[in-house]
Amino acid sequence: MVSSKAGRAATPDGFDAQVVVIGAGPAGLMTANLLGRYGVHVIVVEAGAELIDYPRGVGMDDETLRTFQSAGVVEGVLPHTVPDQLLVFVDAKYRDLARMAPPMGEFGWPRRNGFVQPLADRVLFEGLGRFDHVEVQWSSTVTGLAQDEGGVTLTVDGPGGERTLRAAYVVGADGGSSQTRKSLGLAFEGTTAPVNWLVVDIRNDPLGRPGAYVIADPRRPHVSIGLPHGIRRFEFMIKPGESEADAADDAFIARLLERYVPRETKLDIIRRRVYAHHSRMASRFRSGRVLLVGDAAHVMPVWQGQGYNSGIRDAFNVAWKLAMVLRGDADDRLLDTYELERREHVRAMIQLSTWVGQAVSVRNRVGAALRDLFFKGISLIPKAKLYIVQMRFKPMPTLDRGAITRVGAVSEPTPVGRLFPQPWVATTDTPRQRLDDVLGPWFALVAWNNDPAALLDEDAQARAAAAGIRLVCARPAVQLPWVDVARASDATVVGDLDGSLKRWFDARPESVVLVRPDRIVAGVATAHRAGDLVRAFLAEVGAPKAELQDGRRTR
Ligand SMILES: Cc1cc2nc3c(=O)[nH]c(=O)nc-3n(C[C@H](O)[C@H](O)[C@H](O)COP(=O)(O)OP(=O)(O)OC[C@H]3O[C@@H](n4cnc5c(N)ncnc54)[C@H](O)[C@@H]3O)c2cc1C
Repeated sequence: MVSSKAGRAATPDGFDAQVVVIGAGPAGLMTANLLGRYGVHVIVVEAGAELIDYPRGVGMDDETLRTFQSAGVVEGVLPHTVPDQLLVFVDAKYRDLARMAPPMGEFGWPRRNGFVQPLADRVLFEGLGRFDHVEVQWSSTVTGLAQDEGGVTLTVDGPGGERTLRAAYVVGADGGSSQTRKSLGLAFEGTTAPVNWLVVDIRNDPLGRPGAYVIADPRRPHVSIGLPHGIRRFEFMIKPGESEADAADDAFIARLLERYVPRETKLDIIRRRVYAHHSRMASRFRSGRVLLVGDAAHVMPVWQGQGYNSGIRDAFNVAWKLAMVLRGDADDRLLDTYELERREHVRAMIQLSTWVGQAVSVRNRVGAALRDLFFKGISLIPKAKLYIVQMRFKPMPTLDRGAITRVGAVSEPTPVGRLFPQPWVATTDTPRQRLDDVLGPWFALVAWNNDPAALLDEDAQARAAAAGIRLVCARPAVQLPWVDVARASDATVVGDLDGSLKRWFDARPESVVLVRPDRIVAGVATAHRAGDLVRAFLAEVGAPKAELQDGRRTR
């Protein structure tokens, strides 16, 4: 591949880019897409000559689809997904141990989706083509990194030899073996499972079933997943005594698949690869002007399909913070909240994925029988079964520290630090739209039944405008024809189509909510304290005060 944009001029402050992203994997590409959307100048530096094409992530969650939506590329990725994919853990005889079929969640997208990572990565790469201020440099390996007070200088080994790139901030998205992490001297603490797994993707799916099955067979634990475009994914545990060379042999793979297809069946193998499962986390996610995202910051076994999704969450969390700091709308300390907010969630995902992997990988028959008995036992308890079916065990982002404010919040449990729901809404122009598309990619102050502009005093209005906070009035959809607010102020009016928004506001006394670009609730307040909420949040992130002149903000 060639550079997606060549010869872009240096930014006015002498940087080659405001942000250099190292690595064009999903975490780096998503970070670049979001930064591009927020108007930040980015260079993505990728060691490879093209995107990685070997088999990897196959499970995408609703939060990730919501992030694709925010990046403006969700329509591109949907054709490469299996929405609502069933996930079933079965015993050696294919009898259910645990079945996961979560209902449509509150965030606007199916909660479990099969997908093909190389195709999704390509959608992200192509998404960068929208931005004149984002460039990808292929076949360019970062070999050195030096930080000073003003920025970061990278040494890059590329087609024309060695060169340097200077940026205000660097995002290390260079995968599990991250050179960025190593050059910062950060440890990668954790464990690596003692066994390897062989991953095989097959075209012209010889089985055709749509679900994802984890077969906890002590003779050889394995996985079989139906993927879009007629692809089947198999993953097999490699037993002691078997080697990577065995895995490269078609006859070995035909033997592994014997349970599913006769040995003489001609298989259209797209790719195969042997993997180890790691459970590791970098000792820090930020070092000065360098932030680590994705596998560079953490790796986990595949069993909850959360490695990929966790990297996308990192990108969503860090991108708006970088943009806000670079715009001068927040203090550099805002970037510390990236790790503060992400670390415990990642840890919980690693623990869950590791635990599931250990349960699946039992090779001792007695141990496997006891495990099967346990899971079959709890599935007889309706509440426990529902807990598993609905995947209520999945750790959700819940922040009690970070870029949030409790000023104005009274309810317990608090919605602050949780994801805001995304129902379908109507506007005066569109009969049905996902809420986030109306809120836009940046901050939104949503007030139920009120014009938020009318709730803010002059000072709060000026600060909200300076920070680019969109004002939104939510009301029952039947009230949409009454367009008083739309006429009276700049606020956007959304009509709650199915009562979801009303239910959210019904559940608590606060009627104003500040939603962050990553859709986490930054704060809530009763209507009369809306101004305090805006001031408190902006103070929390270190936003400079907006000066008022003739009633208009100057900054
Ligand atoms: C078999 C398997 C199955 C998986 N299944 C799932 C799943 O179902 N769901 C899920 O969520 N996750 C899954 N994952 C995990 C998922 O694939 C990874 O978490 C994800 O690809 C990590 O993305 P990343 O962008 O952080 O890193 P990567 O995708 O590894 O990208 C890093 C990029 O950085 C580049 N690079 C490295 N060093 C340099 C350098 N010095 N200079 C410039 N560029 C550099 C590399 O060439 C690469 O392109 C699976 C992984 C495997 C192996």
